[in-house]
Amino acid sequence: MGTLQKLTGTEDILPITQFVGQEIKVADVGIWQRVEAIAREILHRAAYREIRTPIFEQTALFERGIGEATDVVGKEMYTFKDRGDRALTLRPENTAGVARAYIQHSLYAQGGAQRLWYSGPMFRYERPQKGRQRQFSQLGVEVIGSRDPRADAEVIAIATDILQAVGLKNLSFYLNSVGNQSDRQAYREALVEYLTPYKDELDADSRDRLSRNPLRILDSKDAKTQEIVQSAPSILAYLCDDSRQHFDTVQQLLTDLNIVYQLNPCLVRGLDYYTHTAFEIQSADLGAQATVCGGGRYDGLITELGGPDTAAVGWAMGLERLTLLLQQLQESQPPELDFYLVSRGEQAEGQTLAIAQRLRQAGFSVEIDLSSSAFGKQFKRADRSGAVGCLILGDSEAEHGTLQLKWLRTEEQQELSQADLPSAIPQLRQHIQQQRQSL
Ligand code: ATP
Ligand code: MG
Repeated sequence: MGTLQKLTGTEDILPITQFVGQEIKVADVGIWQRVEAIAREILHRAAYREIRTPIFEQTALFERGIGEATDVVGKEMYTFKDRGDRALTLRPENTAGVARAYIQHSLYAQGGAQRLWYSGPMFRYERPQKGRQRQFSQLGVEVIGSRDPRADAEVIAIATDILQAVGLKNLSFYLNSVGNQSDRQAYREALVEYLTPYKDELDADSRDRLSRNPLRILDSKDAKTQEIVQSAPSILAYLCDDSRQHFDTVQQLLTDLNIVYQLNPCLVRGLDYYTHTAFEIQSADLGAQATVCGGGRYDGLITELGGPDTAAVGWAMGLERLTLLLQQLQESQPPELDFYLVSRGEQAEGQTLAIAQRLRQAGFSVEIDLSSSAFGKQFKRADRSGAVGCLILGDSEAEHGTLQLKWLRTEEQQELSQADLPSAIPQLRQHIQQQRQSL
């Protein structure tokens, strides 16, 4: 029997940088942690608070929340019966789950808008390819409880801040408005009327969508369909005065923030509850799966799920696509380590864990070499570990209750007393800081 392999469409994110074949670099967890730390900081500064909802939910939540006519619900969900015969689904996205939690815990009773963010795995049964997986991660925000166009502009500004702060360039930002429910209804009819004569020339998916979800035809990737759609009526011509005004204000706010955007009237989000603002941020460096971030306003969702009439806006970012872009940009960095602890001999080895724990509890990071191999080999690993200092414990040190410390960057060496280690800590801390700064 062969060894077991990960499932198609899933990835291992390893703590080391790896090359597969000549160039493809497997994601390194350091990139992920950097992205997450930057995003967390930016979200914190904007007063967004993290929400964690379950990874599986009742299937009905997604059928109602996302809409049965969508690809996600129709073709892509991981749905199963559990042992209690309940219909469950691994979440394909998290707006529905957050909206459910908002209603269930009456978060509207807190007053004002709830600014929420989440990050975690999503699951869709798709054809795996670069930038498209079956388990993937999204970072997302939701502002629930505000109709104000400043909320639309704020979430957009935060998305662009995060992408800029992680170092991405060559991004394009596309913006559209899909109006309110009745604008959309009027537009939908006009679009179906325009497309029906071309029915036989549309790609199979689009033909199928003509009755179920015609707006989604606008973002078909098929060349012939795209050509037909070029001359279709524009949704922007169907916006009522209120919708128009909301959209104008959003654009004005973005301009005031120096956020460059392009209007794209073909950009729709296929779901029924979407209203007004829709946007996508794309990268030219990603090939076919170009969209890094997609979002918009969804004033209809909370009522659709049985909650009070509540306006909301948000977005989700695909973190695999983001890390793919970052891998093209930079080398990963070794983790920061304060001390690498080498030892040899039974008595010395017996003392290592207590020393490491004392230093760790004082705030240092310490890696213990467990190999019992020759000192020479352990020193080589110490050099490669990126540690600032190497702690050395041999027979003689064990005997005398001492410890040699070699500062790896300057090659200085000093002797420490194990018993006096607590009093040496301020000096060690200062020395590590100096060595790091002098790099
Ligand atoms: P796409 O057109 O690429 O299928 P989508 O409209 O299905 O995207 P959304 O549901 O808006 O995507 O999800 C937001 C973001 O999540 C996408 O822009 C993308 O970056 C990421 N994403 C979506 N599906 C996948 C997937 N299967 N694998 C990796 N990332 C994904
Ligand atoms: Mg998709």
